[in-house]
Amino acid sequence: MLADLQGFVFDLDGCVWNGSVLNTGAGEVLAALHRHGRRLAFLSNNSRATGRDLREQLHLLGVTVAEHVLTPLEIIGEFILERFGRSRVLVIGAEEMAAVIEKAGHELTDPARYRDATVVAVGNDFDLTYERLTAASRAAAAGAPLVTPNLDPRLPIEGGDFLPGCGAIVEAVARAAGVQPIVVGKPEPPLFRIALGRLGLPAAAAAMVGDSLVSDIGGARAVGMRTVLYAPHGGEVTGAADVVVHSFGELAQLAGVGRC
Ligand SMILES: [Mg+2]
Repeated sequence: MLADLQGFVFDLDGCVWNGSVLNTGAGEVLAALHRHGRRLAFLSNNSRATGRDLREQLHLLGVTVAEHVLTPLEIIGEFILERFGRSRVLVIGAEEMAAVIEKAGHELTDPARYRDATVVAVGNDFDLTYERLTAASRAAAAGAPLVTPNLDPRLPIEGGDFLPGCGAIVEAVARAAGVQPIVVGKPEPPLFRIALGRLGLPAAAAAMVGDSLVSDIGGARAVGMRTVLYAPHGGEVTGAADVVVHSFGELAQLAGVGRC
């Protein structure tokens, strides 16, 4: 089922790692896939880091086979440019997200001047305040399109715990403003297509491996990729994806790269 595939695209949070800890077997299996000539890419919905940042983190954790690493921050600035032209953007989120949006040629505005915003970009914001939530909600309610890297409700971290995800904050803004958010990252197609382009493979020759039924499995299926749900804790997941694995060892066996 997976042994004939030439490439694998891996989700990061909740799949390859939780917080700053690699999941059991992830490092060994990624190395084995690489040794067996499989092409690898990594596709995270992270709204606080660029692909380069995450590639460095992977390398520090010993995953030196990570070359192609993508997040919505690679494209959010261009995305806003293509859809809405040069904009005045109110960013509620990490400095990294504000930086890539500014780099794409947009002007940034701050919460106190939310009325000037022509676009609102909301990512996961570890410094979220009621003031920022209010500014984003009012700007979106006044007609500034609400753009976000992802709608993932949770950010999995070490020890099986989680932090509220970007999607939880976006949901608050969207509900208050009465608008629908526009998603840049998974499950929307652009990042999947860029990842496949980096691998030089057609969708049918690659599988997406991830823990989110909506962002990873739904998104990959929509572009024609094979889907592998990583479900270390089991649960009612049969039939949800082409293949369900409960460990990286199981993935290695199905991919024909042996026991790890
Ligand atoms: Mg995930």
